[in-house]
Amino acid sequence: MMVPIPVPHPTHPTQPRSVAVIGAGVTGLATTAALLERGVPVACFDRGAPLGERSAGESRIFRYAHRDPVLVEAAVQARALFSEWAEGLIEPVGTVISGGGAQEWTTAMAASGVEYIENPGLRLPTSRRQEPAVLDPAGGVIRVDRVGELLVKRSQAALRSAYVYALEEKPDGVVVHAGGVSERFDAVVLAAGSGNAPLAAQVGLYPPADLAHHARFTFRLRETAPPSPQCWITTSSAEMHTYQHSGAPGQWAVGVELGPEDTRWEVGREAAVAAAEAATVTYVKNELDLVDPEIVSSLYCTTNPTLDDGIHYRRQGRVLCVYGENLFKFAPLIGRECADAVLNESVPDSLGPAT
Ligand SMILES: Cc1cc2nc3c(=O)[nH]c(=O)nc-3n(C[C@H](O)[C@H](O)[C@H](O)COP(=O)(O)OP(=O)(O)OC[C@H]3O[C@@H](n4cnc5c(N)ncnc54)[C@H](O)[C@@H]3O)c2cc1C
Repeated sequence: MMVPIPVPHPTHPTQPRSVAVIGAGVTGLATTAALLERGVPVACFDRGAPLGERSAGESRIFRYAHRDPVLVEAAVQARALFSEWAEGLIEPVGTVISGGGAQEWTTAMAASGVEYIENPGLRLPTSRRQEPAVLDPAGGVIRVDRVGELLVKRSQAALRSAYVYALEEKPDGVVVHAGGVSERFDAVVLAAGSGNAPLAAQVGLYPPADLAHHARFTFRLRETAPPSPQCWITTSSAEMHTYQHSGAPGQWAVGVELGPEDTRWEVGREAAVAAAEAATVTYVKNELDLVDPEIVSSLYCTTNPTLDDGIHYRRQGRVLCVYGENLFKFAPLIGRECADAVLNESVPDSLGPAT
């Protein structure tokens, strides 16, 4: 395979000669693509297939709507960057926030000056009234399949299939020990999702390390469901806290947020998935009369229960670590910020609740 010859970036005379990105999820791939675009030689390591862990599946929710104005503004920037990547990566159906928590989200959107519509016309797979509800018209379905195809294509020359088992700081760089080979790099971006904490600790970085279980389930929309349903987040404590959106045509993905008794790591994956399945099917039966409650498919992942929406960066020497929850919607922004931080030897501002 032809590997493109990197073109030095004229504004960064001291740019690193080599960068390792650990993780080929959406954040690692976005970073790799941004570095390649800036002419920096990169190796992007992953222990499995690209987009195989937290970035797996075919769809996610995009939204400007957040509880924190700085995250609203980050989402606005990310939306523009998604469009620069390519058209059609986000299906602009809108995102509805309903329930008692909706007010908090509109306050943050108002502070950021982005449009929202109170008591909007709803296209949701339920005939129940939803009050209060607000529409984020810029929201929609992120097509993970299209984003993945684009990023893998752009990063192809850099991808390495190998398990990184150690990072070792040396005076002249960081040695990445992966798959029986040890290689020195000028800089490392740690974008390894659930694999961040053990590698980060080896170089004196301690991002939050808690893990919990989460599972999302997909169902069929009934023929009576409205076409092009909006993405939907329910925030009230009276109902279950959920997120929902269409995936493949005619399908509806539902994620229910359960408490620690059902999701903490010690519960075990099998029991946690069983609890999530029972709660989600009950929710669908009780609340979504336009959805067939038979499960079509499921998606499991780990989450960090101590984190909420937010983008977080930490640096120790030559290693920059990125982490957070619900990062997909920010991916192009994260890629750009990580690439610039590598070139400038800086740390981007973290956004969202402190960790
Ligand atoms: C069901 C579900 C629903 C979600 N909904 C939304 C949503 O609606 N909107 C939104 O914005 N976000 C959502 N998210 C969150 C979002 O998808 C994740 O935050 C994002 O994909 C994380 O990307 P990442 O690159 O940081 O991590 P990952 O995708 O987990 O990538 C990390 C990569 O690092 C690799 N790795 C780890 N350790 C090592 C090692 N030692 N050596 C080599 N490779 C290693 C892994 O194999 C993995 O591929 C959802 C996530 C899930 C699972």
